[in-house]
Amino acid sequence: MPRIAYVNGRYIAHRHATVHIEDRGYQFADGVYEVCEIARGFIVDMKGHLDRLDRSLSELSIGWPMHRSALMVVMREVIRRNHVRDGIVYLQVTRGVAPRDHPFPVGVTPSLVVTAKKFDAAKVHQKAEAGVQIITVPENRWDRVDIKSVGLLPNVLAKQKAREAGAQEAWFVDPDGTVKEGASTNAWIVTQDGALVTRPADHGILRGITRTTLFKVAESLGLRIEERPFTVEEALAAREAFLSSATTLATPIIAIDGHPVANGHPGSVTLSLRQAFFDIAEKSPA
Ligand code: PLP
Repeated sequence: MPRIAYVNGRYIAHRHATVHIEDRGYQFADGVYEVCEIARGFIVDMKGHLDRLDRSLSELSIGWPMHRSALMVVMREVIRRNHVRDGIVYLQVTRGVAPRDHPFPVGVTPSLVVTAKKFDAAKVHQKAEAGVQIITVPENRWDRVDIKSVGLLPNVLAKQKAREAGAQEAWFVDPDGTVKEGASTNAWIVTQDGALVTRPADHGILRGITRTTLFKVAESLGLRIEERPFTVEEALAAREAFLSSATTLATPIIAIDGHPVANGHPGSVTLSLRQAFFDIAEKSPA
């Protein structure tokens, strides 16, 4: 079954889906994106993702490409046309197409691309529950990583380094030894006395929508959360470490830079957060 993408007003075959060479997303990474999980026929935390899209757009003075309710119709249509029950829907908005020049062009309509992709949910969950290995890399990103921009080159390089090391994620670490976040995930530990620790999202990391929902999941499980920086050493001495994102949910980390976290097996707190996630998250029919 051919995949279908939405590009600037048209639903077209994914393999023929293109944008103009002078799209500012292509020229300058002048755009933002969102990824929502689709689980059991529901879009998970759609409101949170669209609220963050709104914030990212406004931080960059890019207008909405269409009304929010129309975008929700397009998302559902792309999901429907691709028969996705479990997977992701991806949205990308750029400042639009204009002759290449750094300052903002005037009178340009933002570009919108929406795609959806199926996952084999059982396989994905089984793999995630086995845990992942991560590496650490020095933080080298700009200081506006709170904006979900398509400018992801440091993240791409970090992820590639992880892959070359046989790992699945890379944590960006500040010169003071504290962990920022992963290349595409937020970072967490569980302390020996059972508290969840994650870095405050006021600046320096992306405020993950999954991270926000995990706060509610933790509350429902009676777990304590400490929003504070933690070091790699603390993570290695922790009871558990895990990462979070819309595509990974809470996924156990079993090793950091080749050193096992705790006994090197997925932690029970992480797995219970993962299991309770869908019940607590906001679900909109796809
Ligand atoms: N941090 C970064 C750098 C990301 O790219 C992502 C997701 O893409 C996240 C954190 C997790 O965000 P969310 O939970 O909204 O998927």
